[in-house]
This record gives sequence, C-alpha cells and structure tokens, in this order.
Amino acid sequence: MTFAMAFDTERRKIYHARLMDARPFIDSLDFAENGRQISGEIPVAGLPRLLDVLENPQGILQYTVRGGTDKQGNPLLDVSITGNCRLRCQRCLGAMEHAVRIDTRLLLRDQASLDALDIAGGEDEEEFDSILANPHLDVLDMLEEEILLSLPIAPKHELGACQAADGGNMQKEEKNPFAVLAKLKQNN
Ligand SMILES: [Zn+2]
Repeated sequence: MTFAMAFDTERRKIYHARLMDARPFIDSLDFAENGRQISGEIPVAGLPRLLDVLENPQGILQYTVRGGTDKQGNPLLDVSITGNCRLRCQRCLGAMEHAVRIDTRLLLRDQASLDALDIAGGEDEEEFDSILANPHLDVLDMLEEEILLSLPIAPKHELGACQAADGGNMQKEEKNPFAVLAKLKQNN
C-alpha cells in the first residue's frame, strides 16, 4: 500500500514536468530586452480555440519567437509561424488545406499605454500590433491568437475544387442577394 502510493506520487511529478515543457511561458520584457529566442513545434490538436474553427485536428505548426527592441528602444517580439491546418470550406463543409505563413512583430506595452492607444482610435494607424507586456506570457496562447487573426473569415475552395460547385447549391447561391454582396466585398 505504502509502496503503491509513493509510486503514484512519483509518476505525477514526472507528468507535471512534461506539461511544463510542452507549454512555455516567458517573462516578455526580460525576453525582449535580452534578445532571447524560443522555437518549437505545436500539434494543431493542442490549440483548442483554433481547433474550434478547423475541419479536423491534423497538422503541425513550427514557431519561432525572437525578443528584441526597435530603434526607439521599445521592447518587441518577432513571431513567425509556419505549417498547415485544415479549414472547413463554407460552401461544401469539406476540408481545405490551409498554409499558415505568419511573420509579425508585436510591440510590448504596459496597460496604460494600451489604454492610451484605444483612446487614440485603436491600432489602425499603427504599423505593428501591440500586446500587453506580461511577466508570465503564455507563448502558445499568444501564437494561437495570431493564427486565429490570420485565418480567412469565410474560407472556400476554388470553384473547380469544391464539392458543392457543380451541385444545386451553386445556383441557389447565385440568386441569393447576400451571396452577391459577399462577392462584392471579397473583390474590394
Ligand atoms: Zn468546398
């Protein structure tokens, strides 16, 4: 009995250690100011919010996060993510291979500075997006957010490749004024 309990405790410790490895956290300001770098692979299946909008959980993403400062000395993170995931076609609901290619710079700001940005009318006029400087930044959560922002809002197969393209759905869609409107918007 005693032996079994000791064994159980030991196993739990190992499990926690592995979880910690799989989910990196960084002190974002320290990371930026010391020019640190982290990279790794994430299975798509490990990103629950992304999984919600995908057709299936297949795919692996590679990421690199580099800390640094810009010419003015502002701390930042350069984030790159590449890989593939399977989106759901909004016309036929089938799987659609989607290549993720993200290269983005995120400025680290404190809450007061983010609030000031909001009052000034958001980030629209800013060259780079900003995130809250966080001493315990969840790297995977940040990456997941960037991937979600990069996805097309209504992904669809090319007409020739879509299973619904030669069916009756297509004609219905043509007559639907909202579909026409959506197409006009896409062209802009
Ligand atoms: Zn389709």
